[in-house]
Amino acid sequence: MKLGVVIAAAGSGRRMGAEGNKVLLPIHGKPMLQYSIECFDAMEDVTNVVVVTREVDLEPVQDLIKRLEPVKPVQVVPGGAVRQQSVFLGLKALPADTEWVIIHDGARPFLTADLVRRGLEAVREHRAVAIAVPVKDTIKRVREFQVVDTPPRSELWAVQTPQIFSYELIVAAHERAEEQGITATDDCALVEELGHPVQIVPGEYGNIKVTTPEDLPGAQESFVGFGYDVHRLVAGRPLILGGVTIPHDQGLLGHSDADVLTHAIMDALLGAMGEGDIGEHFPDTDPRYAGISSLVLLSQVMELLRERHLAIRNVDAVVLAQKPKLSPWKGAIRASLARAMGVDERRVNVKASTSEGLGFIGRGEGIAAQAAVLLDSRRS
Ligand code: MG
Repeated sequence: MKLGVVIAAAGSGRRMGAEGNKVLLPIHGKPMLQYSIECFDAMEDVTNVVVVTREVDLEPVQDLIKRLEPVKPVQVVPGGAVRQQSVFLGLKALPADTEWVIIHDGARPFLTADLVRRGLEAVREHRAVAIAVPVKDTIKRVREFQVVDTPPRSELWAVQTPQIFSYELIVAAHERAEEQGITATDDCALVEELGHPVQIVPGEYGNIKVTTPEDLPGAQESFVGFGYDVHRLVAGRPLILGGVTIPHDQGLLGHSDADVLTHAIMDALLGAMGEGDIGEHFPDTDPRYAGISSLVLLSQVMELLRERHLAIRNVDAVVLAQKPKLSPWKGAIRASLARAMGVDERRVNVKASTSEGLGFIGRGEGIAAQAAVLLDSRRS
């Protein structure tokens, strides 16, 4: 079996907002294109691989291949103005005695050898095979924002690559398309134009085409942060925790309102952002912060978060106080903090604990708080 592979990698990646070819963007530290090359290179049946890329990307793609030291011959050829032309150029670059060909998009890095094998099994009988998955959404045909009709979903499949063909058949299909000016967004369609049936092999939903930055795993990054704070309990001060004033004969001493819980959460947020600590941002020598509500400071930290396109996944915090009993207040504190951070209450958890009479907390000299947060990057 003479089995060639054409990897289409000549797209500009405009929707990725990428400079240079998107197939060279890293996924878990490896260029996207490397995944397909490695997959095909490791397949016993594959004899040749051709990567079609833009002229400007020839060199970096060649460099990548050099580094990979593939077992099979991997050739890089310049593509055309549109995908169809690029694939045709790739087909022509394969040896003339090629019997079968796998056409694959370089922007589908999550293909598996198992998926390719299933396609190969089917192609011997059918000569034209497309990997596809049933669509999950209801699809409408729309013209000028008006629904024209609704094809039955049970008949609709989303077609992916690899698509696998008899070399002779797909070359004939491309030749005819070129002669007659037929354009299509996939290679199957050209074979369909020839009147040759195309067999569908059920694929995998994970075999996505990376089109926008959100598709890139790792585009979504997470950051964990931790915070800790202590304030002394004194007479004649209000006790404020998470912005809630709690009736008690003592309150916390500090430059601001000494809201120890909010401070711990702010420190956790700043920590997750790599932004140092609360003392650097809101020095207790600054008269602007004298007696200020810590919720106001928290909202300023939230502003930093938004500037960095970060969002809170969740916050977990614990207040360590011997007295007063905080359990009746946990709900109100949670609601207050969630409101101040602009997140759903389910994303904020507040716990209360004593220190079993031990240490400064146990002696009622002060209250401590600890917080952990998880932030997610969000691209918008
Ligand atoms: Mg503090």
